[in-house]
Amino acid sequence: MIKAIYPGSFDPITRGHADIIERALGVFDEVLIAVGVNPKKKGWLKPSARFELILAFLEEDFPHHLKSGKISIATYSKLTIDFCKDEGAKVIIRGLRTISDFDQEFTLAINNMDLNSQIETMFMVPKPEYQFVSSSIVREIFHFKQKSTQKHLPPSVYEKLMEIENG
Ligand code: ADP
Repeated sequence: MIKAIYPGSFDPITRGHADIIERALGVFDEVLIAVGVNPKKKGWLKPSARFELILAFLEEDFPHHLKSGKISIATYSKLTIDFCKDEGAKVIIRGLRTISDFDQEFTLAINNMDLNSQIETMFMVPKPEYQFVSSSIVREIFHFKQKSTQKHLPPSVYEKLMEIENG
């Protein structure tokens, strides 16, 4: 049984993240989406809201996997590699979009390997149409043109985000 964690800020979860999650579910026995919380970095959305958006997505797209525990969500505020070990996961999934992701992801993977060589980092590539989707683009656009973020967010996430932000 291979359990993987998919760590990230998910501020907010996008269609790109969603594509990686779907792919990961086809490969691993168990996938834990791990929302990293760094008390020194103030995000756009509160960790609880980020969690809620992911939950809305999973409830809509993968209700059976959510129920069976094949997929789950957690927030954590420690080193990812330590969290991974605590959870009994063998793999850290990271997404690679363009070559510009590579430098940072490669450095992260090497450092994680150095900290714990029992845990593997595995990279997954999204569909081409999600290659230029990012949480930071959503954050930038949202304040000016909420509706334009629709194409970057799974429908369930867009709906929930509107609820959270506009009451
Ligand atoms: P972090 O702050 O850890 O980079 P993110 O939520 O931005 O958190 O990203 C988490 C992971 O998801 C990273 O590996 C990132 O490269 C990947 N990712 C983000 N957006 C996409 C996308 N559109 N397609 C594929 N992977 C993505």
